[in-house]
Amino acid sequence: MKDWLNEWGSRPMVIAGPCSAETYEQLYATARAVRAQGIRLVRAGVWKPRTRPNSFEGVGEEALHWMDRIRQELDVAFAIEVGHPQHVELALKHNIEVLWIGARSTVNPFTVQEIADALAGTDRPVLVKNPINPELALWLGALERLANRNIAKLGAIHRGFSYFGESRFRNVPAWHIPIELKREMPDMPLICDPSHISGDRSMIQEISQIALDLDYDGLIIETHPDPVNAWSDARQQVTPASLQEILQNLRYPEAAN
Ligand code: PEP
Ligand code: MN
Repeated sequence: MKDWLNEWGSRPMVIAGPCSAETYEQLYATARAVRAQGIRLVRAGVWKPRTRPNSFEGVGEEALHWMDRIRQELDVAFAIEVGHPQHVELALKHNIEVLWIGARSTVNPFTVQEIADALAGTDRPVLVKNPINPELALWLGALERLANRNIAKLGAIHRGFSYFGESRFRNVPAWHIPIELKREMPDMPLICDPSHISGDRSMIQEISQIALDLDYDGLIIETHPDPVNAWSDARQQVTPASLQEILQNLRYPEAAN
């Protein structure tokens, strides 16, 4: 099950790119900068599941046309969120390499089932973010629904859990939950999303290091050429230069031996 990850880089496999695709220029600049660091898989939200209405909800299909062009020019691949079957249809039409199910969709078995049905038999990797609430069964259930539709390249993304009390995290990591997921599904690749766990770029280094120490298989890090002016998640995105620094500062468990 973990083998498919090797296609995208050595462990930890890194996915980097903006929270949202905003403009062609923004997406191109990010893709070019991360590609220069050896990262091939670029994330970018096309449809954004915003908590409140009247905020930026993604540029939609237009971003898929930008991805068609940028893929050709820069030899990168894209990872995007799909929230319902129409997204899946468009993503497959545009040959998007990796799809993910967002935290607000993982909580809903109807939605997950519809997405799984639309993806049935695909050879594309599909990543499942943990549900926003700290419930392991929903996370496992979503992965099982995809596996039941013969989707062979699966992975889990740990992006933290909603919490009502005071916390320094945007979404509390509750590290024991992904550890339990690994116990239930030992072959499932596990990717950490320090951007959505922290909500704050100053914490990305620290959370990424914990993930590595816990033997995660990859990291997905929101990266934007001008994070402060990003149209979504401005506080947690890092510049490509900071990303490079963060990755260089990581201590790799293997290196200790
Ligand atoms: C995102 O990746 O930008 C996103 C909306 O993530 P999540 O589903 O983890 O909130
Ligand atoms: Mn985001």
